[in-house]
Amino acid sequence: MSNAADSSGASLAGRHALVTGSTSGIGLGIARALAAQGCHLTLNGLGDADEIAALCENLAADHNVEVHYSPADMREPQQIARMIEEAEARHGGLEILVNNAGIQHVAPLHEFPVEKWDDILAINLSSAFHTIRAALPGMLARERGRVINVASAHALVASPFKAAYVAAKHGIAGLTKTVALEVAEKGITVNAIAPGYVKTPLVEGQVADTAKARGISEEEVVRDVMLKAQPTRQFVTIEQVASLAVFLCSDAAASITGSIQSIDGGWTAA
Ligand code: NAD
Repeated sequence: MSNAADSSGASLAGRHALVTGSTSGIGLGIARALAAQGCHLTLNGLGDADEIAALCENLAADHNVEVHYSPADMREPQQIARMIEEAEARHGGLEILVNNAGIQHVAPLHEFPVEKWDDILAINLSSAFHTIRAALPGMLARERGRVINVASAHALVASPFKAAYVAAKHGIAGLTKTVALEVAEKGITVNAIAPGYVKTPLVEGQVADTAKARGISEEEVVRDVMLKAQPTRQFVTIEQVASLAVFLCSDAAASITGSIQSIDGGWTAA
């Protein structure tokens, strides 16, 4: 093979990947990129049933792969366990697990709604514990697996008004490292991707919320808050994050484990 893309393509064709929160944004981008490498997919996430069915059909037709969908709510451990059990039964088992589902809420700590704290910790952190816990036995039996947790620059540094998100993302960094150590000799790698600001529906929602919390305009949020932290002054693209995920799934990345891969335009270098 002449380059990494060729070798990762050859090794990923026919593998089975599950991406949580893949009906939108970064998760959908990662799912698309894995399908383009020939992976069969299990999608998951919220959304309109007809639109999701159309998305599955289009992905399958575009890339000549099989695409299933699980409506499991990432706040519900039993639904997560069932999702993994069903995925494990298809295509020779689950080889690639991408924990991507996530939500955000922006508010000062003393006004932070308790139910938002609970939901963010459940979706952004605990769901990854539940998926990994259920998927590992199959990966261990086959001595092959890739786990990618979509963390954030907020796994490494904090910002005000995002207590639950920052706590959950720091938590997922710890979970990533711990599981990586537990399975290091078993052909399974476990890594986190830590993006800076990526323009997705989640970020578009944050612009309005941050403007309200800080009492500034939406334009000021983009220029002075979001991209101020990102030295490149450019949003990271969904495609860049997806390419990194594909690389981490490749054989070339077999020695990368327990790592938090920053893709943040230099944010956490400052
Ligand atoms: P998004 O809102 O576009 O997508 C989030 C996905 O999670 C959707 O598919 C949604 O349906 C799903 N989801 C939400 N609640 C769920 C639940 N209860 N059960 C199942 N699925 C659920 O957001 P995004 O920006 O693509 O974010 C994806 C991940 O990337 C998140 O973990 C987020 O924290 C992380 N991230 C995003 C950015 C950014 O700038 N966009 C930066 C760093 C990290």
